[in-house]
Formats: sequence, structure tokens, C-alpha cells
Amino acid sequence: MSEASRAQEMPDTLPLIPLRDLILFPNLVVPLFVGRERSINALEEAMRQGHLVALVTQMKAETQEPEHEELYEIGCVASIMQELKLPDGTAKALVEGQQRFRILEWLHDDPYLRVRVEIIEEEVRLDVEIEALMRALISDFEHASELGKPIPQEVLMAASTIEEPGRLADFVAFHLNLKVEEKQQILEALDPKDRLEKTAKFLRKELEILELGSKIQDRVKDQMTKTQREYFLREQLKAIQQELGQYDEIQAEMDEYKEKIKEAAMPEEVEEKALKELGRLEKMPAASAETSVIRTYLDWLIGLPWNKESEEKLDLIEAQKILDEDHYGLEKVKERVLEYLAVHKLTDLMRGPILCFVGPPGVGKTSIGKSIARALGREFIRMSLGGVRDEAEIRGHRRTYVGALPGRIVQSISQVGTNNPVFMMDEVDKVGADFRGDPTSALLEVLDPEQNFSFQDHYLEAPFDLSNVMFITTANLLDPIPPALRDRMEVIHFPGYTEDEKLNIAVQYLVPKQLIEHGLAPTKLEVTGEAIREIVRRYTREAGVRNLERTIAMICRQVARKVVEGKKGKTRVTERTLHKYLGPPKFSYGLAEERDEVGAATGLVWTEVGGDIIYIEATKMPGKGKLNLTGQLGEVMKESAQAAVSYIRTRAAKLGIDEDFNEKYDMHIHVPAAAIPKDGPSAGITMATSLASVLTGCPVRRDIAMTGEITLRGRVLPIGGLKEKLLAAHRAGITTVLIPKENVRDLELLPERVRDELETIPVENMDEVLSKALVRNCVKGQKRAKDSSRKGSSTGKAASKKASSKG
Ligand code: ADP
Repeated sequence: MSEASRAQEMPDTLPLIPLRDLILFPNLVVPLFVGRERSINALEEAMRQGHLVALVTQMKAETQEPEHEELYEIGCVASIMQELKLPDGTAKALVEGQQRFRILEWLHDDPYLRVRVEIIEEEVRLDVEIEALMRALISDFEHASELGKPIPQEVLMAASTIEEPGRLADFVAFHLNLKVEEKQQILEALDPKDRLEKTAKFLRKELEILELGSKIQDRVKDQMTKTQREYFLREQLKAIQQELGQYDEIQAEMDEYKEKIKEAAMPEEVEEKALKELGRLEKMPAASAETSVIRTYLDWLIGLPWNKESEEKLDLIEAQKILDEDHYGLEKVKERVLEYLAVHKLTDLMRGPILCFVGPPGVGKTSIGKSIARALGREFIRMSLGGVRDEAEIRGHRRTYVGALPGRIVQSISQVGTNNPVFMMDEVDKVGADFRGDPTSALLEVLDPEQNFSFQDHYLEAPFDLSNVMFITTANLLDPIPPALRDRMEVIHFPGYTEDEKLNIAVQYLVPKQLIEHGLAPTKLEVTGEAIREIVRRYTREAGVRNLERTIAMICRQVARKVVEGKKGKTRVTERTLHKYLGPPKFSYGLAEERDEVGAATGLVWTEVGGDIIYIEATKMPGKGKLNLTGQLGEVMKESAQAAVSYIRTRAAKLGIDEDFNEKYDMHIHVPAAAIPKDGPSAGITMATSLASVLTGCPVRRDIAMTGEITLRGRVLPIGGLKEKLLAAHRAGITTVLIPKENVRDLELLPERVRDELETIPVENMDEVLSKALVRNCVKGQKRAKDSSRKGSSTGKAASKKASSKG
């Protein structure tokens, strides 16, 4: 039946039933319970005439007899499909909505309500926008069902088949849980598009509520089931592992770990931690990446010598024997070490300061450390601090880092396997200075007996007791050691060896040691004393004996090869056959073949690897008084060069130099040193000497070396490292050295032999230096000076040959 034909049949007056809490829409069917007397009368009247009744909703559900104004004005005409009278006088009816109507007039109230109505026709209009609205409404409706709104499947199907926009809106609104007022709003929306929009809005709101509801539910469900789920999964996993025959293996591993943890004798808190981690491991699926992290961690904990220590024996006489057995000379060092051990024995604690061995490479620092360990019956371990960039290297990375490991201290302890080794930390002078981050504070903690009983490594997350460790540090130079560290340490200097000492060390220690290391019996190889002296003089130039040992090893290797190849009898390496093994000499020794030269002076410097000699060259060329400096020159050295020039200018007349030399010539000073000197100023008098030599044309004596700082007025100031410098001069075969007068007291520290063989001349000012260093009478006798200058015109050639052959 079309809307139009229905409207024609519609009478314009109708009996009316007020509804308490229900709104009927056209085309929808609802059951109606009718109880109020007037309503029953209206129903009966309707049954008599065309089965049509007007339904409007009352504004307040509880009103028993609503007045006209308590009823909405717009309602729905319904046709009664079925009526059932109940025994108690009430009735039940099934009604179908027909059309919207508006009340025009109240005709009478008794015995039932009767009204004159205007039927509201609905225009069916479709456009793109309405189409879109409809589709959106349907899809939202379906979505609501997905989110759990109880909408029967056939209702959804029905919705999707409705083609009239107004009807669709009614249909959806009817099935939503809307309040009466809201449904009435839809009923009163006479324009279909408006009705669609209103319905869509209500549906949206409903969706939001549904979504939120499901979210909340999910969360609650999540929390509740997570633990249950894990338990469930774990049980499943166990079952699978058992099925695969792995379970026993895993259990066995866990048991083994448990055992090992017990055996490691960790402090209680650490053991607890280890067991807790083991618990975590047990619960984890075997394939998880985390398991290997935990395993590694447990392995570290178990591997540490929590309670393993070497039994200490300390007998001073025995200790002295061991030190002597392993080392030639080093009397002062040994004495200091024995004193230290004596104090250690008396106090029975590692509370004393830390020993710090300072000296150039190869002078026996490590080797003395090893002997101390041997004398104490402890293990020995060394670790280099050179290149340590940040704290994490000392203290480790936290376990949250991928690939984290304990710091180097804990690694070393783990490696050595006892908790009371002699622990040598090399190169403390290379820490901090030019590195990012500061490992010094971590080091301080390690070395401080007040703190190191509970050393915290970031990786271990448990304190380790380092208080039984005997720390010894080593350094090449004292100055660069951070002051805070230096304060904790008792410094023992290793000055470097004289030629004779080296000879003895080689004959008594290095050669026998290398023979053993190369599997050679003493009957197979002999290196004569003269050969060794030759090695010391012409194949090595060093404060220690490291290269000497290496060179001896080189000879041993070659002899070993020959023995394997079938050579019979003893090989004797002499001064004359040496070059067959080592090639031509690398250094020249002594100064016999050197000539006195103009502009080349021999200085002494102090470097990281001990004392050394340098040749400073100067030349002049036409110019305007520019001072050119090249070579290994630090800032300080440049200042010294300036001071030297200034001094010479003030002394020009006396030296017989053209007084305005500074306007006619450029000066050039070159310092071809291989190693960078640590004490720039001490080359001052050497630079002044070479300059004076060039300007006067008077050669410098090559058998003289010198060291000293120069002031503008030519005073000679004291310098550091005199002992190392003099040892170097002696090594190089120099016979005379000019030293600052104020350094004379340092001469006491020199080995007797060096003191005897080296003439040291104390000087106070530059005049004295020049009178000793320049070839005699040259300054005053201009003629001879010219001769000499001609002779020395190849300035610095010999010197640079010598210098460049170094190192
Ligand atoms: P450092 O630690 O000072 O660099 P080492 O202790 O490594 O030097 O010494 C280098 C080598 O020289 C080692 O084989 C060492 O045994 C040996 N050596 C150094 N000084 C002596 C000495 N006084 N007596 C015997 N051997 C020595």
C-alpha cells in the first residue's frame, strides 16, 4: 500500500491512546499493553472502525491521566493487527505504525480521547548527499553490532535493504537504545535528511560509548589474564621441551648453574642476586635473546674469585734473594721495594700507599713487579691504562647496553683467578689528559684502600672486594699523572742503565733467557761481551734494555734456524761477525769521526723514553732579521730561541759580531729530534750556542754537549732530568757536558762510573758557555774564524746524517 493511497483512506478524526514510554515509528511493529480505562475504550472504538488509532507519547511516563498539554503534539497513526483481551480487563495489541500525524484539535476526552489530525505526508527525495548519509548510517549501524550491541542479524539485513531515507532513519532510531525524548526528536524531524542526520548523530554517540566500553573491557581482561597466560604458556613450553627431550637438558643446566653459584662462595647478597637471575632464566623460553645475556652475566659472577686467594708467604730474606736473582743492579729500587714489603708484613694490610714505578721503557719496571709477586707467592697480572678513554672501561657498562661487559679491572681479576694478585697498572701517566670522560675518579676508587673493598662495577651490579689486591702502577713520566692519583702513590724512579750495566744485564740475564726461549743450549751459541757492547753502542740507543733484548732475540732466531737446518757445533757471535746477523750499524757511536762544525751544537733533552741527545743547527741568510724555527719545536722551545737571539744582540760587540746583524740576516734554527722533548727550555743554551757560532763563523766543539735554560741577559738556569740526560750523553760517547751550576747537587745521583768518565762543567752564564763550547780563540781571532767558517760551510751536514739515523 503506497503512502498516498493510505493517506486517502485516513480519516481525519481518530481515537487516541497516550503512550507512557514508547514511541512508535511508521512501518514498525510493536506490542502494546493497554491498561488505562480511556485507552481500552479507544482501542475498542478503533477496532470498530477501520482498526486505526492515533498514538502519541506523554512527556512524563508516570502521569496517570495526562492533560492535553502533557502530550507531544506529533505522533504516529497505527493500525491494529491483533487484539487480545486479558482476563483482568486489560488488553494487549500488536500494532504497526502507519504515518506521522499532528494533533489539530481535541474533540472529546470521554469515554476515550478523540482528536482531529493532520496526516503528515513524507516526500521521498534522493540525492548524493542523502545517499552518502544513508550508507554511512548503515555502516555505523553494522559497526555498532560488531562492537557488541545486540542487534539481530535480520534487523541488519533489513536496514541495508531500506531505500527511503526517512524510513531508514526511523528504522535505525527505533533499534537504538535512545531515550524517549531523543526518539521523539527523530519522530518530529519531518525532513528526511534532517532525520537522517539526527539519527546518525545519536548513533555516533552510541558508537563512542561502545568503543570505550570495549577498550575498558580489553584492558581489564588483559590485566587479568596476563599472569594466567604466562603460566599457561610456560607449562606448554615445558611440555613441548619434554616432548622434544630437551627439558631434562635444561633442568640439568639449571641444576649445574645452581651448584656453581653455591661453589663460587659469593657474598650472600651477590648469591641472592645470582639465584634470582637464574630464576628468570629458568622461566624464559630457551630461544629468547635475553637468555644468553643472563647466561653471560651468571658466567661472569661465577667466574670471579670471590673467595679464592693465593696463600701469602713473605720472607724478606727470600724476597731479596728473588729480586737479586731476577735483576742485575737496581740497588736503590730493590731497597725501596724491600722496605715497602717489610711495612706490608708488619701492618699485614694493603693500607699503605700504592707503589708507582717511574722510568723509561725497558728498565725493568714490569720485571720487578713480577718478582714481587713471586716473592709474595701471589699471581701477577698487568693491564695498560694507555688509551683508556672513559670510566666505563674501568667500571664496565650497565647490563642494559647491548654487548655490555665488566670493566677491565674485573676482567683482569677474573682472568687471574685469585682475589689477591699483584696487579700492575701500566701507563698511569697516559690517563685522562686528552681523553673524553674522566677515568681518574674510578681509578681513585680502585686504588684507595678505604673504598676498594666494595668496588662497584656497573656490569656486575654487585660490589667486589679489591682490598687484598696489591696494586703497582707504572709511568714513563711523573708529571702527567693526575695529581689526585700521584698523592696516593709512593714513587720509585728507574733512571735507565749505563753501558756497563747493560752489558752485565745482557750477559747474565738477557742472553741466557733468550737462549732458553729459543730452545738453544748454551753449547750452541755464544755472544761475546764485545759483540754486546757493539749492539749497545751501534744497534740500539735507549735508556732501558728492551731493544737490546730484542736484538739478542733476533740473533737467537737466526742461530736456531741454522741448528735446525743441521749446523753442528757452537756459533760464536763476535764484534766482527755481528753485521751478518743485524746488518749495518744503525747509530754512530762516539765523536771521533765528527768534525767541529759552524752552527751545529749538541744538546741534551729529556723525553718520555729517557734522556737523549739532539743536534741543533742554525744558519743565516741575507734578510731582515726574521727568526725561522723548524723541526720538533714546542711553544716553550720557541720562546727559548727568542731569548737566545735577544741575548746575542746584547752581546754582539763583545762577540765580534756585526752589531746590526739583525737587520741584514734572517736566522733559521732547526731541531731535528725524533722524540719530542718534555722540557723545552733546557735547549736554550744550545740554541744560543749554534746561533753564536753561525754569526761569529766559529765552529762548536763536537765533544761537548750542553743543557740549560737561558734568560734574556744570558744567565743559565737549572733544568730537570739531569741524571737521565747525562746517562744519554755517556751512552753516546760524549766526554764533556756543560750543566747549569745550580744542578751540581744532582750529580750525586749518577752511577760512579758515569761520574768518572764524564767531565761535567758547571756554568752560570752564556759567556762561559761560549768560551767553552766554541773552538778556542776563535771569537777574538777574526782571521781564524773566517778559516773555520769556510771549513764549516757545509753546515749541519754531518749532524743531520747522524740525527736522521736515530730511532
Ligand atoms: P719496563 O716494564 O720498564 O718497560 P721490562 O720490565 O719489561 O721494562 O724490561 C724489559 C726486559 O728487560 C725484561 O725482559 C726484563 O727482564 C729485562 N730487564 C730490565 N732490567 C733488568 C735488570 N736490571 N736485570 C735483568 N733484566 C732486566
